[in-house]
Amino acid sequence: MSASVAGAAWLAEPALQTLLSVLSQGGETARVAGGAVRNTLLGEPVGDVDIATTNLPDETVRRAEAAGFRAVPTGIEHGTVTVVADGRGYEVTTLRADIETDGRRARVVFGRDWKADAERRDFTVNALYADADGTVHDLVGGLVDIASRTLRFIGDPEARIREDYLRILRFFRFFAWYGSGRPDAQGLKACARLKDGLARLSAERVWAELRKLLSAPDPGRAALWMRQAGVLTLVLPESEKWGIDALPGLIAAEKALGWAPDAMTRIAAIVPPDTQRMKALGERLKMSKAETSRLVDWASADAARPERSDAALARELYRRGVDGARDRLRLALASTREKAGNDAEAMKEAAGLGRQLKYLEGWSKPRFPLSGRDLEQVGVPAGPKMGEMLKALEALWVEGGFAVDRDALLQRAAEMAKD
Ligand code: ATP
Ligand code: MG
Repeated sequence: MSASVAGAAWLAEPALQTLLSVLSQGGETARVAGGAVRNTLLGEPVGDVDIATTNLPDETVRRAEAAGFRAVPTGIEHGTVTVVADGRGYEVTTLRADIETDGRRARVVFGRDWKADAERRDFTVNALYADADGTVHDLVGGLVDIASRTLRFIGDPEARIREDYLRILRFFRFFAWYGSGRPDAQGLKACARLKDGLARLSAERVWAELRKLLSAPDPGRAALWMRQAGVLTLVLPESEKWGIDALPGLIAAEKALGWAPDAMTRIAAIVPPDTQRMKALGERLKMSKAETSRLVDWASADAARPERSDAALARELYRRGVDGARDRLRLALASTREKAGNDAEAMKEAAGLGRQLKYLEGWSKPRFPLSGRDLEQVGVPAGPKMGEMLKALEALWVEGGFAVDRDALLQRAAEMAKD
């Protein structure tokens, strides 16, 4: 099989062409590797363009700088240099062969052997290389797997997983993004058999991979297979009793209503809205503060009732923020849409939830019009009492639908000060 990525916009970038050319002089070679080649052949959008080369890292830096580019050794122990050319960053990595692995990370030696470099990669579709003119080099049978969108481990799946258990999650991640039909049976079996090794991975790596998986346009089938293989329960035990049945409805709603795929909403769809458990989940997977808050805010937000008035929603948004309420509403609407069909009641509910989402997107947080300084002017000294009064006045203002104006609040403050 032969293939070419000639004509791809990223390949035509003059800076990339220059870089490949300077790295290919004097008996050395440089080729685009991995995701960019894979995605171009699959007709999928291309993100980063990574380069593999026979040049040793120091030589890569020297040549890139001589060509006028900035070169930063970003992962020197892996032989990676980031070259910034024309505003884009290219990761240039010296060919490698893994010599020793401990199930988490590999010790590497630099090499000049393209086949060895291909063979240490995880899946056949991730091990394709392209020359500057677009010619694709396939050293491990990646092209047939591109054609059928098959995720296939390079070599023996079990052996490859034992080298790095993250590959279990990567198998499902790439399947979620690019796979079709059923996952490769041998790979799936190996993942199921060796799943307990996932416990050895750092939380950061697991979450980074899981987040990417859950950001796929449609991670629904991958989640089903993960669950079936017992992998989902290991990384997300919260989903076990709750189930993943809500995912297809959420994805259908995203597509129909133009919601951008969001890993946090997808997680929320498959775990219980339990504040304590969400906190623990965020800590266990070492999620970012913002990510953990998303789940905690979602779990602690009011349940999305279809008949909730705009005024009640506005109060909820003011008190607890927009994100949690949005996730609640989206998930409720997604599940109601699934039921809706011709059911008049469900259609009415969907309309109510949709109305609230629209309101939420147009809402901006009103500013409480009083401050401590205002209270000082009506004779309240700074201190805990002032704090309490401000809180009470704010509650009054919120309850009044944010309509009580400044003068009325000041008057109320003066009365409170007298009591
Ligand atoms: P994406 O579009 O998500 O960035 P990618 O193919 O570039 O996809 P990366 O995770 O960025 O994926 O990895 C770059 C390349 O490095 C992969 O295509 C693969 O060849 C190799 N690789 C990355 N991680 C591993 C791993 N754990 N085991 C083996 N090979 C890996
Ligand atoms: Mg990448």
